[in-house]
Amino acid sequence: MWKYYNPVEVVFGTGKLEELGQLMAERGMDRALIVSDPFTHRSGVAEQLKQYAGGRVLDIISEVEPNPTCDNVDACTARARAIGAQSIIALGGGSAMDCAKSTAAAAAMNCTGLELLRGKPITDALPIIAIPTTAGTGSEVGWGAVLSDHATNSKIAIFGSPMFPKLALVDPVLTYTVPPAVTASTGLDVIAHSLDAMCSVRANPVSDGLAVRAAKLAFENLEAAFRDGSDPVARERMAMASTIAGYAFSNTGTTGSHACSYLLTAKYRIPHGEACALTLDAWFRKDAAVRPVLHVLSRMMGFADANAAADRVAELKRITGMRTTLTTMGVPDTREAFDELVTNAAASGNMTNDICGATQEDIASILEALR
Ligand code: ZN
Repeated sequence: MWKYYNPVEVVFGTGKLEELGQLMAERGMDRALIVSDPFTHRSGVAEQLKQYAGGRVLDIISEVEPNPTCDNVDACTARARAIGAQSIIALGGGSAMDCAKSTAAAAAMNCTGLELLRGKPITDALPIIAIPTTAGTGSEVGWGAVLSDHATNSKIAIFGSPMFPKLALVDPVLTYTVPPAVTASTGLDVIAHSLDAMCSVRANPVSDGLAVRAAKLAFENLEAAFRDGSDPVARERMAMASTIAGYAFSNTGTTGSHACSYLLTAKYRIPHGEACALTLDAWFRKDAAVRPVLHVLSRMMGFADANAAADRVAELKRITGMRTTLTTMGVPDTREAFDELVTNAAASGNMTNDICGATQEDIASILEALR
């Protein structure tokens, strides 16, 4: 038995942002609040979108922090209520998307960010248009949002069908100004979403097809986008890869590489994609032994087998200057710090979602080789 479901409409194309007003009108969307981050706001994109929306955007909130907290969600929800927002435009990278989706739910359900984080079922949300500025998270076609609790160093993913955006508007132009280090980290995250989707217990023929297409695009274009951010072809293909990978893992979830990343991000402040990339190649090798079709899928991506695909992941990390050891990521060389990483990964739902059925010892041996 397998199933696949994703209701998100996508409009993709260079220059498509300019049609925002018309796209909103066609879908009956009005009175929008743009939820964004300070970096995106400074670039002037939010203001420009407001112009393109032709009066359908009431206000812009731009204070979303990296790894948004419940307080961020509550501030955005209060603004949405104050202006009588009837729709939300999520503009930015993963953090803005996460905060905007949570805000859409909290505003419609009249609840707080903390209630969502503690598992309140998400039964309603204001309609969302998701506009990604990185290639990236794939969150524009997903139904999840990650909220952080700095007090406990935890990141918690919440899910709800109402948080599927009504429309994903993907315009590669927005990624032209992304600096090389962020291009590398977010691009490796795209590869991690694709490969993780293939390693999931919920992988299925539809998600595999999407994941292969996304991975091939990212493998072939990340290096070019990293070396020359103004290369329109590489940028367009990375944006495409990101959204397609989003469709793949919206149904499979992510697996080992993501399970091992959360503490590195929450406690050691390593960017999400770089943290996932640390163990990505190791997990893909391990999973190929359990799910031999990964070799077939790797051949469809243009590699001899899954190990060659993993080799290319390792090579891309070197080329783009990602940190490849726990020490260089700032993890103290102590038993306590190491065990905490292992325990945290083992407790993650992403780990049990991985087809290889890794034990605590398996996780430790993968991390041990990366000290
Ligand atoms: Zn990710």
